[in-house]
Amino acid sequence: MEDVATPEAFARDPDLVHRFYDMRRAAIQMKAPNAAHAALARLDREWRGGLLIVTQNVDDLHERAGAQRVLHMHGEHLNAWCTACDARPRWTGPLIDRPACPECGARALRPDVVWFGEMPYRMEEIFAALREADLFVSIGTSGAVYPAAGFVRNARDLGAMTLELNLEPSQGSAWFHESRHGPATRIVPAWVDEVLSGAA
Ligand SMILES: [Zn+2]
Repeated sequence: MEDVATPEAFARDPDLVHRFYDMRRAAIQMKAPNAAHAALARLDREWRGGLLIVTQNVDDLHERAGAQRVLHMHGEHLNAWCTACDARPRWTGPLIDRPACPECGARALRPDVVWFGEMPYRMEEIFAALREADLFVSIGTSGAVYPAAGFVRNARDLGAMTLELNLEPSQGSAWFHESRHGPATRIVPAWVDEVLSGAA
């Protein structure tokens, strides 16, 4: 991954990086949301209180499942970013042929994804949400990629209950008040049912 997911790689061999992301961009459009995406979209639809789905995923499967309160901290495959004018147009096709930016016409579009060594997006909003949260839930993450891996400790320090939903204990498992392990497609819908029925 690091061969294509760094600003240095893009400077060194932009065609290689564009080819890789063009393939990923095409591939995610063939994927469909799963039961975990659907459950979180249902939570978003039916939960009247505050909610923010912060995702490291760069696909649009949360949105296609119907979720609206979603923040992509690592950017999105289906956006391009114009390094000339800073526009971030929706983009579903390839970038390898250096198409012109629809805003400014420059041929300076790159994938709008956060590469290694770049700052994740919208960290102020994320920390504002962590400060307000009564419950912090980590879903399907290794707990190895910072800053997201540190959110559980931030949330705990700020007084939230913390719950891990993951296939197996993550590297940060010990930081959670509670952990449930199993496939996301099973344990996320079960947890959402609990929350919406008032049992959680
Ligand atoms: Zn532009």
